[in-house]
Amino acid sequence: MFAGIIVNSESIALDKIFTYKVPEDLEDKLKIGQIVNIPFGRGNKLVMGFVYSINNEIQSDYNKIKSIHSIKIVEETFTEDNINLIEYIKENYLSTYLEALKLFIPTGILSGARRKTKMVLYTGKALDDKYDKDPYKSIFNLIKFNEGKFIKNDICQRLNISTSPLNTLIKHGYITAGDKVVNRYNTREYEAYLKKDLSEAQKDVFNEIILGENNVYLLKGVTGSGKTEVYMNLVEEYMKRGKSSIVLVPEIALTPQMVERFKGRFGRDIAIFHSRLSDGERFDEWYRVKEGKAKLAIGARSALFLPFSNLGLIIVDEEHENSYKSESDPKYHIRDIAVFLSKNNNCRVVFGSATPSIESYHNARNGEYKLVQLNNRIDGATMPLITLVDMREELKNNNRSIFSKQLYEEINLRLSKKEQIILFLNRRGYSTFVSCRKCGFVFKCPNCDISLTYHTNGRLICHYCGHQEGSRNTCPKCSSSYVKYFGVGTEKLEKEINKTFPSARTIRMDFDTTRKKDSYEEIYKTFKNGKADILLGTQMIAKGLDFPNVTLVGVISADLSLNLPDFRASERTFQLITQVAGRAGRDKKLGKVLVQTYTPEHYSLQLAKNYDYEGFYKDEIKIREFMSDPPFSKIMLINLSSEKEELLINKSNDVAIHLKKEYKSDEFSILGPSPCIIGKIKSMFRWQIIVKGNIANDTAHNIKNSVYNLIKDVYNDIRINIDINPNNLL
Ligand code: ADP
Ligand code: ZN
Ligand code: ZN
Repeated sequence: MFAGIIVNSESIALDKIFTYKVPEDLEDKLKIGQIVNIPFGRGNKLVMGFVYSINNEIQSDYNKIKSIHSIKIVEETFTEDNINLIEYIKENYLSTYLEALKLFIPTGILSGARRKTKMVLYTGKALDDKYDKDPYKSIFNLIKFNEGKFIKNDICQRLNISTSPLNTLIKHGYITAGDKVVNRYNTREYEAYLKKDLSEAQKDVFNEIILGENNVYLLKGVTGSGKTEVYMNLVEEYMKRGKSSIVLVPEIALTPQMVERFKGRFGRDIAIFHSRLSDGERFDEWYRVKEGKAKLAIGARSALFLPFSNLGLIIVDEEHENSYKSESDPKYHIRDIAVFLSKNNNCRVVFGSATPSIESYHNARNGEYKLVQLNNRIDGATMPLITLVDMREELKNNNRSIFSKQLYEEINLRLSKKEQIILFLNRRGYSTFVSCRKCGFVFKCPNCDISLTYHTNGRLICHYCGHQEGSRNTCPKCSSSYVKYFGVGTEKLEKEINKTFPSARTIRMDFDTTRKKDSYEEIYKTFKNGKADILLGTQMIAKGLDFPNVTLVGVISADLSLNLPDFRASERTFQLITQVAGRAGRDKKLGKVLVQTYTPEHYSLQLAKNYDYEGFYKDEIKIREFMSDPPFSKIMLINLSSEKEELLINKSNDVAIHLKKEYKSDEFSILGPSPCIIGKIKSMFRWQIIVKGNIANDTAHNIKNSVYNLIKDVYNDIRINIDINPNNLL
């Protein structure tokens, strides 16, 4: 018997399947997905490997083949069923075997994360005369009424005794000790979230998805149209059929509401999977899915790789979000993986959004996905009125504050009516730009090509690498004292709100206020329970939150996302305005949205204002086609970075010249090299080459190999990062 083994090494040269003999004593035990120790290389050093295949084919060089040494981890970390997907990811995203299979493995298992147990106490034989007195009797009785609940320490603390009488009882068999598994996941009870009668529109959508012939659906439903309710009914239907479901949300730590609703409906046996879990929690969640104890998982991207054995349904909520694209290897997109699973595992996929990505809507229009729609809010509530506020006019009228006159008045009005307000600003920190008025010096990060952001704690911080320095009142270049702070971040917005609306209770939600594990949920609850009037924050607050008492949403500056030099900038802005607007007026009260901008004439703002998704899609898809941008092409972004700028420029040129010569094709073009828009991050200079067009998978692989080959001699100095259809080209 032989086994194909993937070696646990990042080296690209070792990215292949190695054949090993299976020793006789392991023949019955060895399974795909197990982790084994294998002798490797000339010195036969023992290294870890993953069992990828098992077969009986006679190998020609039989005598040279080494044997597996031993099984290191018996748990099957992935199954035969996953192999197709691993191959797919390797093919389509140019990843290595190891990178692809690690998606299925809870991080931590390699460094020893296991089930956690504790030693709990039970009663043994009955107390006889000798011990039928205190403290023995109290100990015995306490345990008798709490079999399997207490550990030694609990007993000693409760009875305020030393361990010695307890040990005596254990020694003589009156008390026994046993291991009990400690589950490290959240077992909190949630308030019941009652099932609602679906509206006619919801029923239609539900039936179309359940009964339809397609496997992949795009549910386009305006914000507040009751998509989540449809999701829950679908999950329930699949549970009835004995099938499991996965519900993906952009970033679960950021969506307590989704967890609240699903746990409130389906109970506690729901695995929650996201980036903020500890290794132990992650292991336990993974394990309970594997054991079949959880039939539903809610999670971020990574939850799609949980070991469900009978997957029936995948829901991808807010499918347009860019966090569905992985930015580390393998750089897969959830959309592709879900569609792959719909075929491979014959499960149903629902992509949901009020503002589908251009790619998905395109797929729906050409029949690849089946489009289903919810065009109205529940109870016929109207969409909030969106008004674009021209900030150029404010300047003309001498209003230099962050708030336009209209926004100022509306906030006051809502405060007086005891209604809630959400203010959105997609930049954290206090001032986002610090410079000298006299000589023009800009305080920049020494490691990155990025200006430093001033924070209220007095520090200048780089949002790319975390570099910090104390702020200064004099210019390091010309020594003048004309150092000025420009640009508004959320900290400054908060301060301005407190100054302008002193009676309002304000809370801020951004990266800086949500670093602690449960802080997001706390802020969410505070606002939900009406203990704050104004919630301000970054894009974190744009997503799926449902607060019935919010009647005003203000976008402090729509220009920030519009002005990004990226082909998705218009799309992102359209989505952002629509999503943020969706936070207003979700109940009976009419909502209002004010969007402050210096370019109110921009098509994506004009169309967002009218909730005209169709119109936006039509405009945008024309531009994409004209520019041959996705979905009309594939983009392969080859990013080269190095601390040595000159070497990098030379090599980038070499690579580009070579690729252009070797891969000449009418199907795609090779552009560059050019410096990236952000020219330096973490002390690494950055250049890029873009391949754009109809690139076959094997061509992409060949290009990748060529790049690695061309860089081989300076491999230690230049880092290569290749991304297929990246989120942005920064
Ligand atoms: P979406 O996910 O489309 O933004 P939600 O599912 O959050 O919308 O629904 C918006 C609001 O309407 C929620 O408060 C939800 O409880 C309520 N709702 C949804 N469906 C129904 C229904 N069939 N009957 C009554 N209320 C509903
Ligand atoms: Zn200066
Ligand atoms: Zn930096």
